[in-house]
Amino acid sequence: MSDIKHLARKNIQALTPYLSARRIGGNGDVWLNANEAPDCSEYQLDCSHLNRYPEFQPPALIEAYAKYASHYGAQIDNAQVLTSRGADESIEILIRTFCDPSTESKQGDSILICPPTYGMYVISAETCGVQVDEVALDANFDVDYKAVEEAVNAPQSQIKIVFLCAPNNPTGNMLDKAKLAKLLTATKGKALIVADEAYIEFCPELSQADLIQEHENLVITRTLSKAFALASIRCGFTLAQRSVIEMMSKVIAPYPVPDPVAQIATQALSEQGLEVMRERVAILNNNRMVLANALQQLDCVTEVFPATGNFVLARFNDSQKIWQAFTENGIIMRDFSAKNRLKNCIRISIGNVDEMQATLKTLNSL
Ligand SMILES: *Cc1c(COP(=O)(O)O)cnc(C)c1O
Repeated sequence: MSDIKHLARKNIQALTPYLSARRIGGNGDVWLNANEAPDCSEYQLDCSHLNRYPEFQPPALIEAYAKYASHYGAQIDNAQVLTSRGADESIEILIRTFCDPSTESKQGDSILICPPTYGMYVISAETCGVQVDEVALDANFDVDYKAVEEAVNAPQSQIKIVFLCAPNNPTGNMLDKAKLAKLLTATKGKALIVADEAYIEFCPELSQADLIQEHENLVITRTLSKAFALASIRCGFTLAQRSVIEMMSKVIAPYPVPDPVAQIATQALSEQGLEVMRERVAILNNNRMVLANALQQLDCVTEVFPATGNFVLARFNDSQKIWQAFTENGIIMRDFSAKNRLKNCIRISIGNVDEMQATLKTLNSL
């Protein structure tokens, strides 16, 4: 081992970094591997204050997000919103704020995940030296609420945060509001329950944000990377009661969101920006329905998972063959076939009509 590797923390030496779609890369011109939006809007930038540090939490941005999030029975005020460098930073800040790392002499806290699910919860926990417990999704890939509750309330449990994801990346499963509310009550004072709503714009009526008022241990993470078509600016949000936001504010960087990011994000959350987002969602939801229906008809497809976000997970009879055909046609998807319980599964992001046609053309040619 080199001298420098030797200097790094032991858990970092052992860590395999998250392989983002961007890092895996690919060759071609149809990019359906990162759940990005297929289109891009235009924004105005005022560069007259670039010499100044930005606000800790830009007031116009926080105000706009609180207003936007107060939908479908949710009432979110400004003190219940934190903005960060993407939802990924929110995940990391939550772990750093609430979980004690393990040391050689003492076992620390843990997070609980329900796999198969989004990969960054584990990566963030590992970089922080925090243990990861698992309660697998049930046979339908829904959350096993009873098992989660038992795990959190077990006598030896050190679980401080439970990460749930809805729509779940990559299976598309949603949460059950009544069961979630019961879990929140049963784990009150013991653990935070995080609902990762990165894709909630594609089914906004299924948000759990209305439960925040009643449950101090509920945290919701959101992003502008998916439905808002702003993955490049790295802007995300945490919604929770003021007490949670205040604790996280102690840990987050002093200037987490660059001023140009805040300017663009605020425009995206204006009345006009929201209208553009909702039009995009309507188009993508329609493209998703067409794709999911077509997949159902194909002989090479054995299972189409519930489609709720801007992606569809499909199981094929021979995913390697499918993968090769996509590769030959310059179509880049995300391969989940090596993941536990997702043998032969490929996740397809919903793109524009041309991209969906290219996808189906390749599948039909097999
Ligand atoms: C894309 C994604 C994120 C990350 O969002 P960023 O704001 O781009 O960091 C978080 N959670 C899930 C489930 C995602 O799919």
